[in-house]
Amino acid sequence: MTATEAMKVVIVGAGHAGGSIAALLRSQGFEGPIVLVGDEPVAPYQRPPLSKAWLKGEADRESLLLRPASFYADHGIDLRTGVRVVSISPADHTVTFADGAVETWDRLILATGSVSRRLAIPGTDRPDLIELRTLADAERLRSCLGAGRRLVIVGGGYVGLEAAASARALGAEVVVLERADRVLQRVASEPLSAFFTARHRAEGVDIRSGVDVAGFEDGGVRLGDGEFIAADAILVGIGALACDGLARAAGLACAPGGSGGILVDETARTSDPAIFAIGDVTVRPIPVHAARLRLESVPNALEQARQAACAITGKPRPAPEVPWFWSDQYDIKLQIAGLAQEGDRGIIRGDPATGHFAVFHLSGDRIVCVEAVNAPPEFMAGRQLIARRTPVAADRLADPAVTMKAVAAEP
Ligand SMILES: Cc1cc2nc3c(=O)[nH]c(=O)nc-3n(C[C@H](O)[C@H](O)[C@H](O)COP(=O)(O)OP(=O)(O)OC[C@H]3O[C@@H](n4cnc5c(N)ncnc54)[C@H](O)[C@@H]3O)c2cc1C
Repeated sequence: MTATEAMKVVIVGAGHAGGSIAALLRSQGFEGPIVLVGDEPVAPYQRPPLSKAWLKGEADRESLLLRPASFYADHGIDLRTGVRVVSISPADHTVTFADGAVETWDRLILATGSVSRRLAIPGTDRPDLIELRTLADAERLRSCLGAGRRLVIVGGGYVGLEAAASARALGAEVVVLERADRVLQRVASEPLSAFFTARHRAEGVDIRSGVDVAGFEDGGVRLGDGEFIAADAILVGIGALACDGLARAAGLACAPGGSGGILVDETARTSDPAIFAIGDVTVRPIPVHAARLRLESVPNALEQARQAACAITGKPRPAPEVPWFWSDQYDIKLQIAGLAQEGDRGIIRGDPATGHFAVFHLSGDRIVCVEAVNAPPEFMAGRQLIARRTPVAADRLADPAVTMKAVAAEP
């Protein structure tokens, strides 16, 4: 019997990270039992299309699945959907399900993701408010959209803006209410916010920033200044919190305060060496930036799935990656790599008016982040330059006549 044949892995959370690590373990030769438990009634699926192609009706349910539903049984993975884990015991090496059943494990992987954040204002628990986290949420939102319907979106982050673009494609009227003084404030630079605001307005979206939402009422949203905005449907997309309750209750090290995430190392191990955590639920080291953060992205979920799979199967630790993310709105493909920080110098390459440009963030003479709008060469080269920490000359970077290859070649 091999070492991994003797070992049993239980994965809690059958989302992008959980579904990916189950498949990776098998592809890396792990032979022991794998139990993959998820509380949604579906096999692991991709969430990004829920606000994009799927919402617009351009992708079917089948195409959302990470792998065909038959994959799990075919690969000896015991996928249990619609099943919720209510507690874990690091001491006894068990998980307990909502129906009281208990499962043992040798290695436990927490891949419980994140949950939508809620506003603490009157009406926030109204059943007619819509969130966009799961396929069920997306189905509900889509059923409310169509020509002449009015969607009010609270929150001008990526999910809100992607949903706005998709709703416009379906002919709905859209209002976006953002509390900060610009959309995407937490996640993108000012030139990007300005670009997306202008494009959404050109597409007919009523974007209002610096707006205080005071409460939800029958048929609409009440603003702090008393104005009432009528809505046929209200989507609240104001960010997400780590689903770290099981870990906290079990005494695993977590970020201070509630729902801040489970602390893991570069192999995705938690403070208990037999328990790993991957995906949105973690606060993880990012060696390329000497940072420790909670990230919510598919590339992050996949990178950590690889880290934990390698640690469990005894394979060498994968090289650290530069974090990256994408967003699709209308015909715009935004790709971001690296992490921007306070005090970085911003360099714009290309003209935002053309719809093709990139914002580079420099710390000294090194690129730490690139935000590329319909600009894949800038994204790819920028990501490599961040990883290699190559010094660049800002004036050459700003000049689209100098190719990215030539920028990279500079001493
Ligand atoms: C609408 C939307 C659009 C997005 N667009 C992009 C994008 O364009 N690009 C990008 O990189 N990222 C995007 N993301 C983020 C990306 O989908 C997430 O980062 C990714 O899904 C994280 O994977 P995860 O496995 O950590 O969490 P999830 O995929 O959320 O999976 C966690 C699963 O665990 C389940 N679970 C939680 N607790 C329990 C429990 N106690 N018992 C059983 N099951 C449990 C949850 O129900 C869920 O099914 C988007 C997310 C959303 C919601």
